[in-house]
Amino acid sequence: MSAPFLDTFARPINYLRVSVTDRCNLRCVYCMPAAGIPLLGHAEILSYEEISRIVRVAGERGIHKVRLTGGEPLTRLGLTDLVGLIAALPEIDDISMTTNGLLLSRYAARLAAAGLSRVNVSLDTLRPERFRAMTRLGELEKVWEGVEAAEAAGLVPLKFNVVVLRGFNDDEVVDLAGLTLAQERHIRFIEVMPLGHSDLWSKDGFVPMREVQSSIERDLGPLEQVGHDDPVVGNGPARYWRLPGARGTIGFISPVSDHFCSGCNRLRLTADGRLRPCLLSDQEIDLRGPLRAGVSDEALAALIAQAVVCKPERHRLVEGLSAPGREMSQIGG
Ligand code: SAM
Ligand code: SF4
Repeated sequence: MSAPFLDTFARPINYLRVSVTDRCNLRCVYCMPAAGIPLLGHAEILSYEEISRIVRVAGERGIHKVRLTGGEPLTRLGLTDLVGLIAALPEIDDISMTTNGLLLSRYAARLAAAGLSRVNVSLDTLRPERFRAMTRLGELEKVWEGVEAAEAAGLVPLKFNVVVLRGFNDDEVVDLAGLTLAQERHIRFIEVMPLGHSDLWSKDGFVPMREVQSSIERDLGPLEQVGHDDPVVGNGPARYWRLPGARGTIGFISPVSDHFCSGCNRLRLTADGRLRPCLLSDQEIDLRGPLRAGVSDEALAALIAQAVVCKPERHRLVEGLSAPGREMSQIGG
């Protein structure tokens, strides 16, 4: 396997998050305006062949892990075909997906058969009426059907992503943490980030992860740190803990209060073919134009290397600088 790209700060870059669509069947309050966003046209979005070519060239230069995201990835027709194309690339040893779970019961078995390894499901609340309020459209029951189908298909370890918002679900973190007790289900609590239109952050929607951890420990007892050798830990941004005797783990992702940029290992590809070195910076490198103009693999690899070189040392949220002009659903969270 080829050695990973190293960026200017000696971070190995071996992970690509691919947004396959900017469309979504939900309108989560922290992610999208109620009216949705202006959507890309069909011709503006990379085809599956274009995506898999980028992944192949990146894979030959050291990218080994790919995550499919969006928008809602399962709203794009034929997603299993893309999973199959990526799974056939020898350099890629891990393909995962982040989904809101609504369509998962329909596709889980086919995705697993095509080569998907596991899924992260976004689940901010256990209460149906609250779920509808936070997503503006969603039916919680459908998400649970999706979770069960994913587990039955072997898309594990299954992780839940929970964005904690004051006044919406901050009173539920203990109940959500309890999901890790009886079954091997993992929860990752996430600090809300100020992206795109989202004004919740500045309006005190923000809840720091240390507050979430304190609430859980106050009600359920002290958490035990999970060692780096545990397979669930990986090399992502979460710090993992476990309730005594629990089968699953609890992760905390604190991009705002305690950024993890020194361990950042990723690039992001937007649905319209821009390579984004940092989620929280608007700098992007266009791959779609060169791809459609007949770029060679070598020149494509050079563009990917350029994105690696451009990765900033860290984001500047604590200094009050939140660049993104794009919504999270347009970048692929
Ligand atoms: N639609 C899929 C889903 O919701 O899982 C995938 C795309 S979504 C943009 C990816 C992740 O980003 C989700 O777990 C979501 O909760 C998270 N997210 C969206 N907006 C966010 C924000 N402003 N701050 C922190 N996380 C956010
Ligand atoms: Fe859609 Fe995911 Fe954004 Fe919610 S977080 S609006 S499900 S893209």
